[in-house]
Amino acid sequence: MSIPEVDEMSSCQRDCQACVSQCPVGEDALSINDAGMIEVHEKGCTGCGVCQWVCPTTPAAIVIKPLVPKFSD
Ligand code: SF4
Ligand code: SF4
Repeated sequence: MSIPEVDEMSSCQRDCQACVSQCPVGEDALSINDAGMIEVHEKGCTGCGVCQWVCPTTPAAIVIKPLVPKFSD
């Protein structure tokens, strides 16, 4: 399973919102919070990669990364 990570501090042009508008799942997977930051919702995201493909920055400000399993003690 993979989910996207957003590089908000450098290349993300937050007002472009292409990733959010093109995500096939919608706001259950990707949304913009009240502070204007892109938020990934692990439960809804399918890891399809559309958000990375449509991001206009080079390199992409939103990148699909493997989800590291969390093991309980
Ligand atoms: S990987 Fe796919 S489902 Fe997940 S946030 Fe990106 S576009 Fe949406
Ligand atoms: S598509 Fe890329 S630059 Fe645009 S809001 Fe999403 S992460 Fe930021």
